[in-house]
Amino acid sequence: MPCKPILLVLTNNHFDPTWRRCWDRRFTFQGKTYASYADLEEWYLLDNLELARKHREYKFEAESVVVVRKFLERHPARLAELQRLAAEGRFAVSGAGDNIVDVNMVQGESIVRNFLLGLLWVEEHLGLKTAMGVRNDGFGNSAQLPQILRGCEIDWVTGFSYSPLHGQYWRGLDGSTICHSTPTLLWLGGGCEKYPPCGRCLGAGCPACGGRGIEPALRCRLPDRIDEQRLRREGIGFVKLSPEENLPNPAIFDWVRRMRRKFDVRFAVESDLQPFVREKRARVDSPPAKELHPGVELNPNNSGCWVTRIRLKQTCRRQEHALFAAETLATLASLRGAAYPRDGLREVWRTLLFTLFHDAITATHVDPAYDELRDLQREIDAGTLAVRELALRTLAADERGALSVVNAFGLPASAVVTATVDAPKGAVTLLDPQGHPVPLLRSKSAGRGKLEIAFFARDVAALSTRTFAVRPGRAPAAPKALARPVIENARFRVIGDEHGLTAVHDKRLRRTIAQAAAHRPNELILERDEGSPWATLHPDRTREALSPKTRLISAECGDGWQRLTYGLDRTGRFLGNGHPLSFRTHVFLYEGSERVEFRTEVKWDSHNCRLRVAMPAPLRGRAVYGIPYGQLSRRSYAPSYHWAGANGDWPAIHWAGVESRGLSVALFDKGTPSYAVEQAAGSSVLLLSVLRSPAIPTYLHEPDYYSMTAFDGMRDAGDHCFERAS
Ligand SMILES: [Zn+2]
Ligand SMILES: [Zn+2]
Repeated sequence: MPCKPILLVLTNNHFDPTWRRCWDRRFTFQGKTYASYADLEEWYLLDNLELARKHREYKFEAESVVVVRKFLERHPARLAELQRLAAEGRFAVSGAGDNIVDVNMVQGESIVRNFLLGLLWVEEHLGLKTAMGVRNDGFGNSAQLPQILRGCEIDWVTGFSYSPLHGQYWRGLDGSTICHSTPTLLWLGGGCEKYPPCGRCLGAGCPACGGRGIEPALRCRLPDRIDEQRLRREGIGFVKLSPEENLPNPAIFDWVRRMRRKFDVRFAVESDLQPFVREKRARVDSPPAKELHPGVELNPNNSGCWVTRIRLKQTCRRQEHALFAAETLATLASLRGAAYPRDGLREVWRTLLFTLFHDAITATHVDPAYDELRDLQREIDAGTLAVRELALRTLAADERGALSVVNAFGLPASAVVTATVDAPKGAVTLLDPQGHPVPLLRSKSAGRGKLEIAFFARDVAALSTRTFAVRPGRAPAAPKALARPVIENARFRVIGDEHGLTAVHDKRLRRTIAQAAAHRPNELILERDEGSPWATLHPDRTREALSPKTRLISAECGDGWQRLTYGLDRTGRFLGNGHPLSFRTHVFLYEGSERVEFRTEVKWDSHNCRLRVAMPAPLRGRAVYGIPYGQLSRRSYAPSYHWAGANGDWPAIHWAGVESRGLSVALFDKGTPSYAVEQAAGSSVLLLSVLRSPAIPTYLHEPDYYSMTAFDGMRDAGDHCFERAS
């Protein structure tokens, strides 16, 4: 009798740890209590363990480490059971890393840490070496991901979503290649229903729902139809039970029994798929050309995610840098004999990675989840500060009246530094290491005999400290008004008029690097953006440039600085609709600085609208974008307006610019990742998106399951501040 075709059954829910629920707290809305994802994921593992105990052949997986770690926090005694199942090849954690993070808006180092911490956790706790990476539901994939994955010993990855992969292999920017082959997937599903609160107890927990507070009857859907002819033809295939929330369904065993009449049905985990892709993986470094995906990245999609709830992204970027710096300082301190705070750093990293998850930093979540994420960000700040302070006890001069500026980068740096210093007499003078006075750019009381000062620290060597002396002194002179809205330092001359900037000249290059054309340098632009947190959904993207309504407020200079301030103060009817908006935008030049710096403060309370900032440059050329660990030249593309569409912007890390022969102009941001570069005859304009106010909830509101409408925060109403430089 011929062998039956092999049908593998994989159980691995796609568990988002935050979006329509909170991660580790229940919340109540209109009298109903909503279970947390940590609860659901705990029940998933408990129910699967129960099935595994009853059925010796049963196997299941967890998608990411964060799910299992939280489970073990609640049930530490179950580790031995998971370890035994892992040793028997019946339980595995797929290679998401700590979680399936976004890889367009986060820095390369964070992507590395996600895989490193996650994969090592699995090795240390379960004794398993993960072979297959997963990117299920990640909104796009960076051109650097193949390189990072190969560096983490992963050459086989599945689950690329939204911007699909063509062919069996994907080669990234540096030439690293990964294989994404699997046996034929005959069925993928299980349901994306969301658990409503239990109808009897409204989520509080009662005997009817087994105390869980969710409707108990809802379970993973089973495969209803598979392509049996194809399975017979290919001899092997698999079904993947991968619902979002739906807990495992004990009826799977009846289904398996029925299917066994025709097929050799086996429960499976990742390691059971490996033999069937061994040959394809062996060719990963020399794949057939026709099997190679045509392109280095899997983008763009879900472009709204690069702007919605922008504060999350700004905070993530700041916290990544702060954590890198704290880690560097801890390393330097340990070289001088201090203990390295390994545990403290790991905790902060895990929390940071959580905020980089693909429904966290992307802002595709409800308000209670946002509040929890902001609380986690406060924990990250506190944890990072603790590590930094500990290191500085070893590194910084413990001298009265000394102020140490530490450069944690591997390159020399010059930057505006702020510090709080003792000022018993109310004012201070700052002296550099040679004893020369350093101009104070700002000096304001911080109460209790302390002063917050800002100054430009020049040429602090890589991984070094420069120590300044703080002496009692006189308060800086009051700013002087400039006769015209023109500011200047040794490098730049910035020219404005009554409504905004007209040009920026680079005196060293003797070139105009920004020039008013269709838009002015640093001009704010409102754009219609009818959409959801994920995407722009309507093609009407009418723009209104705000310069005609913007007014010069001041042109001032002081010791070491010059500044232009523009603003708009009214509840206008922009874009023919009431989109209240007021803002202040400042342009700074500091003596010694090689950058033009901008800060914009916005009061925002709008809907279906987007705010951009323009930087027009008098050149045409290649549009280049910062990406994790590198840069990438990209062309413009036709926008698509659907729930996972992209509006013409690209995601960038730190900067985007235009490069031409002899001159490149770039705009640097602080955690606002969405750029478009538009080009016309002889000129280009960089358009940085800083805010949007989507009013369409799409998947945040699915009344088929339940109605929970706390998501108005997606409009991002409130006060915002954006800094950038050119
Ligand atoms: Zn997801
Ligand atoms: Zn109940």
